[in-house]
Parts: sequence; C-alpha cells; structure tokens
Amino acid sequence: MSKGFLLIISGPAGTGKGTVCKELLKRNTNIIFSVSATTRGPRVGEIDGENYFFIDKEKFETMIGNDEFLEYAYVHTNYYGTPKKFVMEEINKGEIVLLEIDVQGAMQIKKNYSEAVFIFLLPPTMEELKNRIIKRGTESEEDINRRFENAFKELDFVGNYDYFVVNDIVEDAVSDIESIIKAEKLRVKRQSRIKEKVLLKGGR
Ligand code: 5GP
Repeated sequence: MSKGFLLIISGPAGTGKGTVCKELLKRNTNIIFSVSATTRGPRVGEIDGENYFFIDKEKFETMIGNDEFLEYAYVHTNYYGTPKKFVMEEINKGEIVLLEIDVQGAMQIKKNYSEAVFIFLLPPTMEELKNRIIKRGTESEEDINRRFENAFKELDFVGNYDYFVVNDIVEDAVSDIESIIKAEKLRVKRQSRIKEKVLLKGGR
C-alpha cells in the first residue's frame, strides 16, 4: 500500500477550483475531500457539513485556541480552516486527502508537511477569470473587485507550488491532476518495502 498524502489545490477565486475538485472527486471515489470550517455565510445551495462547516467567529477562535486546525487563514474578510483530526486520520490510513485552500493556508502546510503535493490552478486568461467571477453572480461589486485584486496577488505564489494546471476545459484539468496523482503515488518515498514486494512475487 502506498502512503497517504495531502493533495493541495489552490488558485485565485474564479479559476473554477470548486468545479474541478467536484469532477475530480466524482471520477476518483477513493479521494477524500477535507471539509473546511468557515465563518462566511452559506451561498445558495451550499450545505453545512458538505461544502463547509459554517460556524461563527467565536467558535472558530476557540478552535484556533485548541489547536484544532492543520492550517487556517483570513481570506476575503472571513476565517477558513482545515480541521486537523479528520485529515490526519485519513492520511494515516493511506488515503489521499484533497484540500481546496488559499495560498496562505497552503504555505502554512508547506512549512509543516513536506510530503504534501501542491497544485496551483490557473485560469486561461485574467479576462476570463473576471468574467467567471462576475458570471457566478453570488458576490457584490465590492466583493468582485476585492477577489479580482487578490487574484493578481495570489499569482505571485505559483512559484511555491509543485505543479500548475490550466483550467480551460474542466475534463482536461481533471485529467492533468489525475496524471499528477498517478506519478506521485509511484514516488519511491511513498512506497514501503518495494524490494520485499517484488521478491514476494517470486523469481530469484
Ligand atoms: P469561497 O468563499 O469562495 O468558498 O472560498 C474563498 C477562498 O478560501 C478560496 O480561495 C478557498 O480555496 C479558500 N479556502 C477554503 N477553505 C479553506 C481552508 O480551509 N483554509 C484556507 N486557508 N483557505 C480555504
């Protein structure tokens, strides 16, 4: 069995991270999604415990105090964080755990978990990115502008990631991520007792 690992997907708002992750999970039912906690209110159609754990600021700060987050960040005026216990349990079982988080959170993980795999999702063009944020229609004009400004800043972080994937056509972006996973699983460092396994299969 190969060892479990964290698969981090980041990218500016509007790159289609949500859509890509959903399709990735649909096509790969073995990948486990880490549900984040947030102080942001649910958008239409979002379900508590499925998209996010929607909690208030006080509860979030208590969880920070109890060291319950693997990472957390303050993004677009709200807290977002990855509950630690669930993720670590799944990794220890040998699972691949998908985290869809912002660059600040990803950099915290990079410091503490060297074995995580970091993927940065990019839009085909910045113009397309703005169109996608506007088309989503869930944000006020002020929010849209803030997210677009943040997108420019976030692009500076791409150099800290292991891979970049362009999300032009969702299916292609997902296939690229699947290729990355396949290669990562074959890394020698993620396998235990390779020689013994080969010898068990017979031969010399
Ligand atoms: P949204 O409000 O659009 O769902 O998410 C806003 C940003 O927060 C996105 O960039 C998303 O990736 C990020 N985010 C979601 N969950 C987490 C988390 O647990 N930790 C961090 N650091 N960022 C998160």
